[in-house]
Formats: sequence, C-alpha cells, structure tokens
Amino acid sequence: MELYEEKRIKPEQLKKRLGKPITLYERSETSLGECTLALVRAGREKYLVATGSGPVFDELEGTTEGSCKICPTNHANRLVLNSYLPYTKPQSNANKRTSIGLGDRLGEATCGHIRALQGTSVFPIFAQQSVRELTLTGRTFEDVIDKAAYAVFQEGYTGGYGADGDHLKKEADIEKALEAGVTMITLDSSDVIDNTVFTLGTHEVEARYEQMDATLCKSYEDRYRDQVFTVSDQSYTLDAEHLKRDILIYHRALDFIQAIYEKYIAGSAVSLDFEVSIDETDTPTDAKSHLFIALELKRRKVVVSTLAPRFIGEFQKGIDYRGDLALFEQDLLAHTAIAKQFGYRLSVHSGSDKFSIFPILQKTIKGSFHIKTAGTNWLEAMRLVALKDPDLYRRMHRHALSRFADARAFYHVTTDISAIEALDATQDAELVHYLEDDNARQLLHITYGFLLEDTDATGRKLFKDEFFSLLAIEEQLYADLLAKHIGKHLHLLGFAS
Ligand code: ZN
Repeated sequence: MELYEEKRIKPEQLKKRLGKPITLYERSETSLGECTLALVRAGREKYLVATGSGPVFDELEGTTEGSCKICPTNHANRLVLNSYLPYTKPQSNANKRTSIGLGDRLGEATCGHIRALQGTSVFPIFAQQSVRELTLTGRTFEDVIDKAAYAVFQEGYTGGYGADGDHLKKEADIEKALEAGVTMITLDSSDVIDNTVFTLGTHEVEARYEQMDATLCKSYEDRYRDQVFTVSDQSYTLDAEHLKRDILIYHRALDFIQAIYEKYIAGSAVSLDFEVSIDETDTPTDAKSHLFIALELKRRKVVVSTLAPRFIGEFQKGIDYRGDLALFEQDLLAHTAIAKQFGYRLSVHSGSDKFSIFPILQKTIKGSFHIKTAGTNWLEAMRLVALKDPDLYRRMHRHALSRFADARAFYHVTTDISAIEALDATQDAELVHYLEDDNARQLLHITYGFLLEDTDATGRKLFKDEFFSLLAIEEQLYADLLAKHIGKHLHLLGFAS
C-alpha cells in the first residue's frame, strides 16, 4: 500500500527523540487506514512506531510528539498489534500441515527462522517453551509469544505461526500457557507413566498387576486381551503379558490425558492443537504399546493432533541421531501406520541436528508430521559469539566447563568433556570449530541456563548483558546463521526453499 508522506515513518525524527542511531525494519512498515506502523531498533531496544492517527494509534501505549508515537515492544502493545494484524497472533495448525517447533530460548531467533522457512509450506511454531526452559532463562509464556509476534511483524511475515506450551505436566502451567495465548498444548504425562515397569520380569509384572483394582483390570482385559488388531498390513495381538505391562505403565497417564483433554481442550473457545507426549522414557515405545494407547485415546474420545512416542535410538541434545538407521526406519514405519489409522500426526522431539534421520522421516511418513527443535538456535548464537567476540566466547566456554557437572543432572547426554580441545591450545580463529565438535556442542547446549543466569559475587549476571548486546549488534549475522542451519534441517526433511 502506498504510504502518504504525512504518515511515513521519519528516521531522522526518531533518531533525535530516542537519542541513538536507529534501524528501521522496512518489511515491518504497514498502513492501517490513517496510521502507519513500523518497528525500529535503537541500541538494544526495539520500538513500535505509529505515525498518523486513528484507533490503533490511540490504543497503543507510548509517548506522542505531533503525529508520531514511540511505543515500547511490551505485552500490552503486542495485544493491540494482534487485534489489528491477525497474522501477528498465534494460531492453530488448522490444515494439519507438516509443522516445525522452533523453540527460541533467547527470544531473538524468530527472524532467522522466518528466513529459513521462506518458500516452504511448513507451518512454524515460533513460540515453544517448556516450563523448565522458562525457569532456566527467567522468562514467561507471555514474553515468549511477545517476542515471536514482534519478530513476525518485523519481517512482515503473514504466513501464520503457532505457540506451544511445551512439555506441560501441571494444570497450573497449562492454565498459564492458555492464558498467555498458546495455540498448542504438549501434555507431558511422564510423571504418571510408571517407568519402573519396563525393567520388571514376568513374575514381578504379575505381582504388581495383582495389586491393581480388579474391576479396572477386567475392563481392560475384556476390551483387548488376546485381541488381534490390524494396522496397515501388520497384525498385532495384545497378548496378556504385554497388555498387563502396558496397563501398569500407562493407565494413570491415560486417565490424566483424558482429564486434561476434557477440561481444557475439548470445549475450548479457540482452536487448539493437542499433543500427547510419551517420549520422556528410557525405553522406546514399541508398536503394541502405541497401539494400546491409540485404542484407549479413541475409546475415551480424546482427539489428539500429534503424538510423540519415544523412538528407538538416541536423541541427544545438539548432535545427530545415534542408533541403527535401518531399525529406526522400521520403528518409524510401524508408528506412522498407527498414527495414520487413528487420525493424528507423529511428533518427533529433540529433532535439532538429527540430520541422518531427516530423509527417513520424509520417505517413511510421506504425509505430514511435527518435529520439534529447540536448543540448536542457542548453539548458533554461541557460534556467533565464537566468530565475533573470542574473549567472551572463551569466558563462557570456561564457565560452561565449570558448570557441566551441575547441568548434567538434567539431561541424558554421553558428553566426554575430557575429549574437548583445550581453550589454551585453540587460536581465536579456530574457536568456531568447537561448534562442530559433538562434545563441545553438548557442553554448551546443556549449560545454557547457567551461562545466561549465573551471577558474580555482586549479583551481576556474568555474561547475559554482553551476550545480548552482541546479538543485537549482530542481528543480521544471527539471522543468516539460523537461516542456513534451520534451512539445512528443512532441506533434508524434503522442503526446498
Ligand atoms: Zn519430548
């Protein structure tokens, strides 16, 4: 739309008022009747600028001089933006397209993600955080969605995006996430999945099963015991032993999933994607167990959009898949057939950097699926630090080493920190090679919370300010690195950009 002179954003005037050189994000310039909106950066801060007049101009909070209002990129103004420009508001994946979760721990990665997605048909979940990630980074669901919404506006991206309250386990957290405007709930039932049963012997399973409520057991057995179910060209018999094991492992989780679905999802006024995750177990979900869960969810009238089984092999943070690719393909084929038959999509968690399985996902699933990535954009930020500020990189790397033992408690990783090249033996120009080393990648990956939040003796954050200042200055480079890295994910998944 043509911008009339009096409504055009005037960079010179803004520079004077903000007292700093500014960057005007041209793709953000949008005319809304008598008002033109745009996003600008001044130093580390971004501002929404409104020029002209009219309802949107009046509703935004900010400081006005003449016909120009400078507005903070806060939560209240994000809501105003949402109401006038619906594409800035998260939405559900109504057409069930293949979707990618792009968890952005720093709140700085969405612009790069948008560039990576250009020309593909993938539905992005730009806002995706678990409660653990929020705690480790001192953020809130509101803040996560605010950052994604402003980035969408900055890039003029009108393709739509979702917001995922990831790995939620508690009702209070689900309520907080929904209130903040998430469009997807990933329900993590791992607290009520009985993991101890996986390793029990036959007799121990019998003994545990005997202690369960007899009526409950009978109802399950009436439905499934020794029944044969055909999925695609595969037959599964839910034999007594396997069934008893599955009942012991999953019956509380099934009750929990149903209760959450009925309370929050089924009657929701807004369209929501509901993901059931059963992936946080040490033991892979076998096809029979998946089938049992699918049958039960259907019987309980729980409609799921996506389900995340625990696939065979290792999905460690920040590095490629570890395991037998042929076995993975077989496993995936069985899960895909079940998901298809029951009308939902598969979800693959910890999908960052799993390059060797991406072509298999594309080939085997054929239809659409969901894949979650999260920490890899943090590692791309560390790549930027290694490239642009060797001194900061060295200090962060050293601190990560000192905190590795603490971080390790939260993650399943096989990192060997003794195998990481010593900092003293590494030239500045070679620091970036740490981002190609699996051990160093995991070291930096799992210590992110400490690197961002740890303080010195006076209570000052050790690196946070310096780190975010660098990201602000190098915003374009960060977007380029992400476009390349996430672009590689999408390319191998079969989405050409
Ligand atoms: Zn997961």
